[in-house]
Amino acid sequence: MKYSILVDAYDRIESTTKRLEMRDLLADLFKKAPAKLLAEIVYLTQGKLYPDYLGIELGIAEKLLVRALSTASGKPVETVKSSYRKTGDLGETAEKLLGQRAQQTLTRRPLKVEDVYAVFDKIACEAGTGSVEAKIRLLCSLLNDATPREAKYIVRMALGRLRLGVADMTILESLALAYVGDVEAKEQLERAYNLSSDLGLIARTVASEGLGGVLKLKASVGRPIRPMLAERLSDAAEILVKLAGKAAAEYKYDGLRIQAHLKPGSVLLFSRRLENITEQFPDVVGYLKESIRLENAIVEGECVAIDPNTGDMLPFQMISQRRGRKHEVERMTGEVPVKIFLFDLLYADGEDFTVKPYPQRRAALSEAVAESDWVEISRQLLTSNPQEIENYLMEAVSDGCEGLMLKSVGPNSIYQAGARGWLWIKYKRAYRSEMADTVDLVVVGAFHGRGRRGGGYGALLLAAYDEENDMFRTVCKCGSGFTDKDLEELPRRLRPLELPHRHSRVDSRLEADVWFTPGLVLEVTGDEITLSPVHTACFDVVRKGSGLAVRFPRFTGNYRLDKSPEDANTTGEILEMYRSQLKKITT
Ligand code: AMP
Repeated sequence: MKYSILVDAYDRIESTTKRLEMRDLLADLFKKAPAKLLAEIVYLTQGKLYPDYLGIELGIAEKLLVRALSTASGKPVETVKSSYRKTGDLGETAEKLLGQRAQQTLTRRPLKVEDVYAVFDKIACEAGTGSVEAKIRLLCSLLNDATPREAKYIVRMALGRLRLGVADMTILESLALAYVGDVEAKEQLERAYNLSSDLGLIARTVASEGLGGVLKLKASVGRPIRPMLAERLSDAAEILVKLAGKAAAEYKYDGLRIQAHLKPGSVLLFSRRLENITEQFPDVVGYLKESIRLENAIVEGECVAIDPNTGDMLPFQMISQRRGRKHEVERMTGEVPVKIFLFDLLYADGEDFTVKPYPQRRAALSEAVAESDWVEISRQLLTSNPQEIENYLMEAVSDGCEGLMLKSVGPNSIYQAGARGWLWIKYKRAYRSEMADTVDLVVVGAFHGRGRRGGGYGALLLAAYDEENDMFRTVCKCGSGFTDKDLEELPRRLRPLELPHRHSRVDSRLEADVWFTPGLVLEVTGDEITLSPVHTACFDVVRKGSGLAVRFPRFTGNYRLDKSPEDANTTGEILEMYRSQLKKITT
């Protein structure tokens, strides 16, 4: 197929802003294309060579293109640059300068779409020494064969700025029109696209096998599935109504969503935006290989940074450090350990699970996964009771989660790839209370350390003072902020206070590994004060069944040796902090 046919269509598409007109122009173009070339045409029309998830980019720098244009047009580099400054678009400059070529190659063989695609493909594959020169040579050969109008799009494509602005959905509609003769068929094409994330594949299939062929497309290991998204509501009762009275309430972990594709000998990880992030999480690859008992599978989960000493979840900012630092993977993997909480199974050994109701997917997931310190299945509570949801929300937040995900468990609760719908509803707190100040808390217990802290304390159980009842009531488990020196010093300070059981003035719902006579006071900061069913400070005061806690506590480094335990912050002060700083969550 002649490249000029594509270029004619591009010119027309470029000159319209109306979506429907664009759709019809594209449908006309697709009808003219041979089925075996349609995938390439779809990619080229989007300014790509492959589906995004393969991460293959043309990667031609502007400087390089200027050089190629200079050679192809026979004009000095300066002339190319000055024209570019005027037009602001190197594509237009190419059209103009090549139009002035002394010898317009009348005898030239018309460029074919296949040739253009093949040359771009070669350019994308070039790497290493000599690749710059090779790329320039390839580009020049293409530009030599191109008409000025073709050169405009070749240059734009090479720069990654095709600027036609055709959305995925427009392409799907155009394919439906061209090959099914009915725009409505876009729905089925879209479902197949959501399962494969590959528009070229859909185009080639519908063109060669019709709608029937598209309907047969299934989820497949290696092709990311576009993620299912959630709606949002802020009332537990209302959520239950939406979910027909019954829901799977799950912890909404605050981390990075990962879709893992497993086959014998290989694991691929995709981000929520379907980028291939396998190399950034070699640890997760290893954990999943160990834990998943299926040969071929696609699972989804949330990766969360973990404090290696306590096993506690850390805030989102920690795991975000693991992204985007390709050269530092090894160091970051050691510094920020992560755990994956799996929440869905989309494909297992030849079977497409996206069409099965959620309880079936979850049951199969539980069966397939051997849980470990680093791989867990998302915590879940099946419930029909709004109060239970409220309590579970508090538990989730005090465990370091963002809130809850409430999921339909009805017969239609399929995995809606690529869609935001009411089968999943997120439920976060309406308010948060920021901590403006540090607090001084009393050490009342400790938990054994793991990993580097094995043999010592991993985290301390801290309490505020309840003046009225002369009791110490817990507000957090703190494992962060301690330096190596602190870790040496703490046992020295705490050992003399050790007790074989909980001190009678300590009120705790947690069972510590070691108990202390209240004595040592530490200064602590945190993200906020939250409701918590686990901690006993101000229990039942703000809400029945819960106390107040410091979320994500960190030791500041200050031992308040000047303070007696009764001088620590009081539970009344913690309550005051909670009340005075309630801020509506707007995100
Ligand atoms: P949001 O990003 O606020 O729209 O919330 C949806 C995100 O929550 C998903 O994309 C997941 O990354 C994350 N998430 C955390 N825990 C779960 C869970 N148990 N089920 C589904 N999604 C979860």
